[in-house]
Amino acid sequence: MTAVNATHDPARWSWIDSANHADSDFPIQNLPLGVFHRPGEPLRGGVAIGDRIFDLAAAAQAGLFSGKTAKAASAASRPTLNPLMALGNPHASALRARLSELLRGDGPERRRVEALADRVLVRMGEARLALPAAIGGFTDFLCSSYHTTRMSLTGTPPPAFHHLPIGYNGRASSVRVSGEPVQRPNVQYRAPDGTVRFGPEPAQDFELELGFFVGRGNVLGTPIAIEDASEHIFGFCLLNDWSARELQRWEAQPLGPFLSKSFSTTISPWVVTAEALAPFRMAARPREPDAPALLPHLHCQADQSYGGLDLLLEAYLLTPRMREMGLVGDRVTCSNFRHMYWTPAQMLTHHASNGCNLRPGDLLGSGTVSGPTDDSRACLAELTSRGTEPLRLSNGETRTWLLDGDEVVFRARATREGSVAIGFGECRVRLDPAAAWPARHRVAAAE
Ligand code: MN
Repeated sequence: MTAVNATHDPARWSWIDSANHADSDFPIQNLPLGVFHRPGEPLRGGVAIGDRIFDLAAAAQAGLFSGKTAKAASAASRPTLNPLMALGNPHASALRARLSELLRGDGPERRRVEALADRVLVRMGEARLALPAAIGGFTDFLCSSYHTTRMSLTGTPPPAFHHLPIGYNGRASSVRVSGEPVQRPNVQYRAPDGTVRFGPEPAQDFELELGFFVGRGNVLGTPIAIEDASEHIFGFCLLNDWSARELQRWEAQPLGPFLSKSFSTTISPWVVTAEALAPFRMAARPREPDAPALLPHLHCQADQSYGGLDLLLEAYLLTPRMREMGLVGDRVTCSNFRHMYWTPAQMLTHHASNGCNLRPGDLLGSGTVSGPTDDSRACLAELTSRGTEPLRLSNGETRTWLLDGDEVVFRARATREGSVAIGFGECRVRLDPAAAWPARHRVAAAE
């Protein structure tokens, strides 16, 4: 588990003023990585600092790195962060330490870097952010007992829930970055009168989740010990696991969700490194006295003591009418990752325990991050008791499921006494209407 070090020092501040505001998601203690460009420029890696992006390719060209940090910065200067992820966390950690030195207000390098500001800093508002990685595999877990219980027809989680983190193989090709609209899918479902139909999904939902990226991978046939799991977790992002509930209800027995999830998944563009989150680690959620004992391959003391994460997660809903009224939207969910039954290390270890090879840039989702209270229900299916109790919004509107034009915004923030709070930025998506069917004239170009 990564230790707290000088890069987390709450006394450290940046010569970039906007990074020092108390409400900034991107103070010098954060330094999340992403991929960006301005129109006409190549995609490349950058680091969020206040309202600016520190351009790693430009900084490398300007000679600000050497040795291990030069290798890391060069790997991060490509159109995806996969090469940096593949180098392993020690390289990312060395890069973080160097960036912290370059950007700190009272550091010896300040004058040198500030003189290069026009070359190495890009205004976030002028940049377009892309997917941070080429995602070869996407796996979604089900790690909240509260979500699992509320969604269960029997009122209890399935038997395996307390023994292993339940997951399924998702679809990597349709993972998109915040800001790209999602289209309501056309789906097959069984209507209340029993007829089976095909058309726009009637019960479109979101799921508030935490995503995380695999750094260094493992060779096929070679599992990852739980003691080593944190070395393979590069960093975290917000993840919206869009869910078509009528289709899910119809198709998911017995193999689980297929088309009800695969049409789109949205992630936030900034990857908050595991190291940046070190001050916000906490004990794994205690297991109930009557819960089965953890099997040894999912248990290690360090993970039990520090494998949890104290991270506030929020979902906002902004309807077209709210937009017209100039409102920012209603917060419909306020939850925390501390409620999760399984840790990221347990998810990763379980995933590779059968010998499955994980690769740099693979994306794992935690499952809906729902907590015990009503305001921590992290999808509409829970918030509306599976569509039976409409959600009342502050401007008088109601929602049972999402309507076309609705926007869903996720935010996350880690705070702790004695540490500088860090945030994840936004994961923001508008729901567009379903495509007219048949769609033969709409054949999209192959990617
Ligand atoms: Mn999910």
